[in-house]
Amino acid sequence: MKHRVFALLFALLLILTGVGCKSKNEPVVPTPTPQETQPAASTPAPVVSGTPKYIFFFIGDGMGAAHVQLAALLDSASRPDYAVTPVRFAQFPVLGNAQTYLANTYVPDSAASGTGLACGVKTVLYTVGLEADRKTIAPNLTEYYHEKGYKTGVISSVAINNATPATFYAHTSTRSNYHEIGRQMARGTVDFFGGGGITSETQNGESVLKLLKRAGYTVADTIDQINALNNASGKVYAMDPNATNNIMDYEIEKKEGALTLADYVRKGIDVLYTENGPGFFMMCESGKIDLAAHNNDAVGVISEVKALDNAVAQAYEFYLQHPNETLIIVTADHETGGLTLGTTNTGYALYPKYLLGQTTSGSTADTAVKAIGKSMTEDQLKDLIRTHYGFNAPGTSGGSVTLTNKEWAAVQKAYRVYTGKENISEDEKFELYDTYNPIVQACNTIISARTGLGWSSHEHTGVPVPVYAIGAGAERFSGAMDNIDINKNLKF
Ligand SMILES: [Zn+2]
Repeated sequence: MKHRVFALLFALLLILTGVGCKSKNEPVVPTPTPQETQPAASTPAPVVSGTPKYIFFFIGDGMGAAHVQLAALLDSASRPDYAVTPVRFAQFPVLGNAQTYLANTYVPDSAASGTGLACGVKTVLYTVGLEADRKTIAPNLTEYYHEKGYKTGVISSVAINNATPATFYAHTSTRSNYHEIGRQMARGTVDFFGGGGITSETQNGESVLKLLKRAGYTVADTIDQINALNNASGKVYAMDPNATNNIMDYEIEKKEGALTLADYVRKGIDVLYTENGPGFFMMCESGKIDLAAHNNDAVGVISEVKALDNAVAQAYEFYLQHPNETLIIVTADHETGGLTLGTTNTGYALYPKYLLGQTTSGSTADTAVKAIGKSMTEDQLKDLIRTHYGFNAPGTSGGSVTLTNKEWAAVQKAYRVYTGKENISEDEKFELYDTYNPIVQACNTIISARTGLGWSSHEHTGVPVPVYAIGAGAERFSGAMDNIDINKNLKF
């Protein structure tokens, strides 16, 4: 990666000295240097073969190739040329792609596609850890490694008993059996749980946290308690103290001192790793890439791809210390949103600068809209779209983007629909806003349209997902594969 940094500096030097500038409007094309094609002597060649003792399995929920590229585009917004430096994990030496279809559809949900990754079987929609008959238990990777004597970890930025993490420790006929999935956390095959809280923690007077404690787990739910965890802590659930509705905050709006997905990976290593001890298998999910993509919220997607990249960077640091014993793989369970970079309206151009004005996730904008409620005034609307999206309604200022009359009309319509001042048919409402907050959807649509981002769906799609790998055994993940092959290849 060092040579890329050098190339970047070199390009900057060219620009500063005016070399290569033909005219003001022409893009500056950096001249290739030997450093761009030859790794610097001090950078060791990446490891791709061997047998790993430490396995990191990262899942970006809903993360297609376009989501990964979008995260890199934002950093290009202020560059004078069109060069894109991929996020760090997208620079890993091994690249593949994986099919995500299920036993009963081409477009998967997270439970069934997660089961493909975790258990290596094609199952049917909404099923967690069972074969397509929804009865036969399909053993998962944490069970596989637990039986081999390894330590195991499951981390997620959404609820720890949500579909994707659930497939790595639970077996149940439907993902909505939240309490039952929570109960199965206490089975003891996972040594470290980290991240989001537990949906339906208590049901019929039974508490999952109490079950976990009875099974010998330490439940750490303050920053101090979590920071104090180490490899003498035994079985642990590090439950994020800042989570809202059991979901960790978006990385772009993280509260001061709050823990990030990367912190949970770091802590997972602290708990699972012992010098000369057994190896470990750790699954870490960045779960809100999917939530943001359902919302067609580009900035939310970027925030959570970057949260994943930062989390992977923790594993990469560990890999640098144990290069011949560590495997890192990054993939997705499916694509969400049908995201494309480039639209009919923007032609052969993208304008990532428009993403810079949005300062919170669409989800937080949604919370702000609901906090004001249906009695919202037009002045409150103007404040809201300026605060969250950087939008100036015509005649106002303080934001970074002044809306056109057409854009402002779209926001006003959404406002009238939301506040009940205008009635439109359910069909029109669904076409414009799906089932989401009309005001937030209108703003998300404007940001994406200006940037040149297309969304074909508010749901998942059936396009294959990228696979990135580095370290011992990484060569197994090159080329075209099926998601169940990822599972088979992860069994060493
Ligand atoms: Zn998913």
